[in-house]
Amino acid sequence: MGLLEETKRILYAYKIYPKRKLGQNFLVDGKALDKMINYASINEDDYVLEIGAGLGFLTERLAEIAKQVIAIEIDPRLIRVLTNRLRKYKNVTILKGDVLKVDVPKFNKVVSVPPYSISSPLLFWLLRRKFECAVLAFQEEFAKRLAASAGVKDYGRLTVSVYCHAEVDLLDAIPKESFWPIPEVNSMIVHLKPRRMPFHVENEEEFFDFIREIFTQKNKKLRNAISPFLTKVGIPKEEIIKVADSIPFNYRRARDLMPEELGLAFNELIKKLQDIRKTF
Ligand code: SAH
Repeated sequence: MGLLEETKRILYAYKIYPKRKLGQNFLVDGKALDKMINYASINEDDYVLEIGAGLGFLTERLAEIAKQVIAIEIDPRLIRVLTNRLRKYKNVTILKGDVLKVDVPKFNKVVSVPPYSISSPLLFWLLRRKFECAVLAFQEEFAKRLAASAGVKDYGRLTVSVYCHAEVDLLDAIPKESFWPIPEVNSMIVHLKPRRMPFHVENEEEFFDFIREIFTQKNKKLRNAISPFLTKVGIPKEEIIKVADSIPFNYRRARDLMPEELGLAFNELIKKLQDIRKTF
């Protein structure tokens, strides 16, 4: 039986109507699932985290190869399905709850088709943790934002933040027809490999504050886009223009600046701020 028939059969048998709010579109293309497992080079030593296990098609494939699979699922109806279907695998731990809230045991890899509604918080949740690699499916538009180059439409705060924490590779497209129920948009497989900050910034936490502020005004020239940040860090009004005019790239738009260039501008800014603060 193909995965599409299997999905319809299970949903019918358990009287489950998929909830849109929980992003319940099940990936019913076995080849795509196998590819994701290959991209993560899953082997018998791996502790694999799966977020939003759904009906368990990916879970059971992972369980055949990995040492341990930690499958998180929020919907009690699907927990029932998973518990019944995965009974024979002793190396699967099913955790009920919201991935962003439950305590997750140690893992070294992630392979998942997660709920798309939480793509962004999930990614930041993940990037705060230590792991070797993650292979995830995302909506195509979101995936493109992760790997966009400076100056293109999809480039923004998300791109810069992720770039600072991981190497991102966009792999295969998954057409929307590979899911049931069929969603509105296509998906894409993304490979993430965590890394240290690829360029030097004087203060990481403050750099991400800076990024957040300037990308809320990403179409403005940097000299204007940084003024809310300068106000926030306590620079007096009369000094703001002077500082803004003294940093590199101040006449370019935030959306056109590469992460490294933003880093340079920020470092220069921090030096100026230290000088100004000394005079207070
Ligand atoms: N991975 C499965 C299911 C994808 S649908 C597959 O490929 O077929 C997304 C799944 O995530 C659904 O089963 C949904 O119930 C679950 N989910 C939604 N929000 C969640 C959350 N906050 N934490 C954990 N699971 C969640």
